[in-house]
Amino acid sequence: MLRPLLISAALLCSLQASADAIRQTKGDFEDKFRQLDEVLPTPNVYRNAAGEPGHQYWQQQVDYKIQAKLLEDKRRLEASQQVTYQNNSPDTLRYLWLQLDQNIFKSDSMAELTTAFAGIGRRGPATSAGDGKKPARLSLDELRRQHFMADNELGYVIKDVKDGNGKPLKVTLVGTNMRIDLNQPLKPGQSTQFSLTYAYNIVEENAVSARGGYEHFPKDAREGGNDIFQLAQWFPRLHAYTDYEAWTNKEFLGRGEFTLEFGNYDVEITVPADHIVAATGSLQNADKVLTREQRKRLKDAEKAKRPVFVVTEEEALENEKEGTDKTKTWRFKADKVRDFAWASSRKFMWDAKGYQQGGDTQPLVMAMSFYPKEGGDLWKKYSTEAVVHTMEVYSRFSFDYPYPVAQSVNGPVGGMEYPMITFNGPRTTLQDDGSRTYTQAEKRFLIGVVIHEVGHIYFPMLVNSDERQWTWMDEGLNSFLDGVAGREWDSDMPWGIEPSEIVDYMVSSTQVPIMTQSDSVLRLGPNAYTKPAAALTILRETILGRELFDFAFKEYARRWQYKRPTPADFFRTMEEASGVDLDWFWRGWFYSTDHVDISLDKVYKLRLDTENPDIDFARDKEQDLDKPLSMSLENNRKEGIREWRELNEDLKDFYDEHDRWTVTNKERNKYNKFMKDLEDWEREALERAVKEDKNYYVLEFSNLGGLVMPIILKLDYADGSSETMRIPAEIWRRSPKEVKKLIVTDKGKELTQVEVDPRWETADADIENNLYPRRIVPSRVEAYKSEKSKAKISRDIMQDIKTKLKTDEDKDDKAN
Ligand SMILES: [Zn+2]
Repeated sequence: MLRPLLISAALLCSLQASADAIRQTKGDFEDKFRQLDEVLPTPNVYRNAAGEPGHQYWQQQVDYKIQAKLLEDKRRLEASQQVTYQNNSPDTLRYLWLQLDQNIFKSDSMAELTTAFAGIGRRGPATSAGDGKKPARLSLDELRRQHFMADNELGYVIKDVKDGNGKPLKVTLVGTNMRIDLNQPLKPGQSTQFSLTYAYNIVEENAVSARGGYEHFPKDAREGGNDIFQLAQWFPRLHAYTDYEAWTNKEFLGRGEFTLEFGNYDVEITVPADHIVAATGSLQNADKVLTREQRKRLKDAEKAKRPVFVVTEEEALENEKEGTDKTKTWRFKADKVRDFAWASSRKFMWDAKGYQQGGDTQPLVMAMSFYPKEGGDLWKKYSTEAVVHTMEVYSRFSFDYPYPVAQSVNGPVGGMEYPMITFNGPRTTLQDDGSRTYTQAEKRFLIGVVIHEVGHIYFPMLVNSDERQWTWMDEGLNSFLDGVAGREWDSDMPWGIEPSEIVDYMVSSTQVPIMTQSDSVLRLGPNAYTKPAAALTILRETILGRELFDFAFKEYARRWQYKRPTPADFFRTMEEASGVDLDWFWRGWFYSTDHVDISLDKVYKLRLDTENPDIDFARDKEQDLDKPLSMSLENNRKEGIREWRELNEDLKDFYDEHDRWTVTNKERNKYNKFMKDLEDWEREALERAVKEDKNYYVLEFSNLGGLVMPIILKLDYADGSSETMRIPAEIWRRSPKEVKKLIVTDKGKELTQVEVDPRWETADADIENNLYPRRIVPSRVEAYKSEKSKAKISRDIMQDIKTKLKTDEDKDDKAN
């Protein structure tokens, strides 16, 4: 129970006022609600203050015609391309910049030279520093990578860079970037053409951990084995030229992805005749590369309930057995895409199912999957279905899927996205009895990664954010939505990040704000994927509610489809379309490393003074008598010490009859005058309050994590009832470190317990201080036996030297 305190009506009013001033002093002033405008770029004609494309918004267009040839035996790609560059900017351009991503694998690339030992590696630490006691470590993966890099000539060979008239163009290489100096300045509104040829040796994905490459299957039926090729970042692509940064000049270091222009592609891909090719775009010459039967199956798939095999497992297994010297050329066209990727292998089976989404944009989309036998039932059952599910969910949050195909391809790349095509890694395991099985985690991973990568076709392949700068704009938004889609697939599997799961990261010291350029981020996963995903989940479920959030998010997607949003455009659109000021939210979650920890420190109950001495004096007395007896008096009584006044009863006086709570007419007159002097409304207010005799509870909160958030309260009452109260974050606006909140309940409605954030929806880091009164938090402790390091000293060499050397024939019956 909560001990009541007495309080006067006048004091009650001042309580709330004084809370505002607490710990917000001259020295440590901090305004968590300071407007973001001073941080965000100034709105202009290209990007307006609503977060929309401005009335003079522009972006460049780059169209490509490419003829590529896969030299399977050499694992080499040779290609030529013709580029048409449309300058829609208001600026005259004298040169163009291209991205040569394959040059990242050159031994003198900035990425190679700046990889720090025992630092945060390319994908997790490949090396670790020793501490003197333990040796430093190099992973076998890292050794394999170094060997591959040493043994192979990597990076582009680029030749014949010419303008539209066939005149040579001067080029200058700067790391992974290449400048082409134009023979004539390119004026606003004009377009120019150039062409070039190029070749490079394809990397082994599993050796170098890139975003594309080949995978070799040495034990396939064909002598020497077969490969799967996944080709991405494979052609020289134009850098973006933008209104906010002009040319992107950030070197490709491997992590910050790609900032690209939209354009139309016409790509011819020549591969061994027994290969199946999947690519961005729609296939133009099915009659040349597929059999009549396969074309019929593809047609049948349009209306099928479940995926139909276009290339069956039997056909794929047949292809696996032999190679061929013959080639075939597959031709794909893709309009309004920002990139182009493809995959090729004779191991591929291919299934397809039409997604009848209706509408005017693209009523029929072919969802398709390409995978080797190693994909097994996992792929047959779930890949294409997951592609369809992704479109169903994501389109609700954005716009109709606008392309003719959406594809999932199995290969060495664990998970990567391109327009209309994604690369996804999980597979089945071959067991001794010849069957293929998969774990529940692999099932979850396959469905999850397909949803995630296909989701990327929306963000950032269509809502074309600047990935080189801001990983969170694609990964964070997409991780938020893949969580939505995953929960709608099967809520029994732990899909998507829940706010409580980001807590460990948010209290850790290895952290930078979400608003950090991709290559400088520490711990990319939690920083750019899960923390923004958790933040958006909280924004949707807790702060804005689904109706406001979904409207605003869809508006963001609609505004920026086929365009290039910046973080400010997202922040502004979400505020402007929801109608809710969220500057404090972006500041706390995206610009700071604060975490959420709201502590409920104290709850006390106030009782309104009636000012009537006959009532208040009696209450005072009651409360005074409630105090425990002091130890001195307690022990005096135990010892039977008799007080002087007992021993001298004949000397009693007036004060032995009247205690200090005795009311006299002096107080009564004062009370009557007080009541008489009150204005009518004042008297009525006091009389009503005295009559109602409500409970006034004061809750004292402190903000230990720094991040201001709504205070969500569960209030439990003595009568067994319970209610939830949601206090907006704005309660912290004048006093971000401590606030008090008054809660008034009817007479008899006694508060027994208060809990902050009972559903763990705000990512509150310490839930022990969320309860008042505190309770014992259950936890686990495990007894363990200490293990002394005895490996070296306990070697019994005198005995061990008698051990016989095992041969392969020996049965491995006893481990030693
Ligand atoms: Zn991703």
